[in-house]
Amino acid sequence: GDYDLTELEGVGPATAKRLAEAGFTSLESIAMSTPSELAVYAGISEAVAQKIIQAARSKLNIDVMSAYDFYQQRKAVQRITTGSKALDELLGGGVETQSITEIYGPYGSGKTQFCHQMAVTVQLDEEKGGLGRGAMYIDTEGTFRPERILQIAERFKLDPEHTLKNILYARAFTSDHQMIVTERAESYIKERDIGLIIVDSLISHFRGEYVGRETLAERQQKLNKYLHKLLRLALGYNMAVIVTNQVVADPTAFFGDPNKPAGGHVLGHGVTARLYIKRGKKDRRVIKLVKSPYLPEGTVEVAITQGGIED
Ligand code: ADP
Ligand code: MG
Repeated sequence: GDYDLTELEGVGPATAKRLAEAGFTSLESIAMSTPSELAVYAGISEAVAQKIIQAARSKLNIDVMSAYDFYQQRKAVQRITTGSKALDELLGGGVETQSITEIYGPYGSGKTQFCHQMAVTVQLDEEKGGLGRGAMYIDTEGTFRPERILQIAERFKLDPEHTLKNILYARAFTSDHQMIVTERAESYIKERDIGLIIVDSLISHFRGEYVGRETLAERQQKLNKYLHKLLRLALGYNMAVIVTNQVVADPTAFFGDPNKPAGGHVLGHGVTARLYIKRGKKDRRVIKLVKSPYLPEGTVEVAITQGGIED
């Protein structure tokens, strides 16, 4: 939870304010950051940043009860089926609550299809692999299609209209708008028992609005703040978060895949699990787990059909 940062050695009110504005409101978020990251966001020297990180880490280490609390919290983690046995297995049972799951891939690879699918499966009863809760869909590209929800709902034998009513939809036209919508989400989460927030795409507005090297730090700072907000919601409401991300060409890749996820290290650190999706033969898609805190890397193949994602 939020922490009075001025309690940390070396943090005055001005620094605490800047840290909080950048999304560093908890000891955990500071303890997990790097000195250069913190220095950029808080406008302090790397040496001072290093001291603050050390202070946060030592505070966390002596706090034995929070490890126990953390364990208690982890025991509440639930998983949402993806509709594919292979993909569920790759994810250790499905998309986790209390986490941010990112799916990145080229245009047309199936990221938005995956989002539609999960907006439906989260609504399945627990014994069928869902949470029995609703979804919130934040659409930044205007690609949400209720008709697809109807088709997917039918496959899972859910009442199509009811399924649509259980999805809160918000179109976000700018990155600021996207952030405001997410801020407001909290009241809906409680009111409508939302179990999954989808942001499709997380990054398009940020990339479109902040072009050029001189704006990069500001963009990354905002993105970082946004990811922290999403993670706090995920933890606070035992909820899953799914974000989609684009690919950029990696000019340093001499061999292998020239695609890498956009968003740099801020996004790489900010998400809990990361999936890479690309086209296979015909309706097939190859999905690779490229980052997980505890699962091995692996690759599976799924199909995208009328009924959504399946084996
Ligand atoms: P991305 O979000 O990664 O850009 P999408 O999720 O929009 O890509 O994927 C679009 C692709 O999904 C289409 O090219 C098509 O192959 C597949 N698709 C969309 N709707 C259907 C459908 N009703 N039946 C089968 N495949 C579909
Ligand atoms: Mg899309």
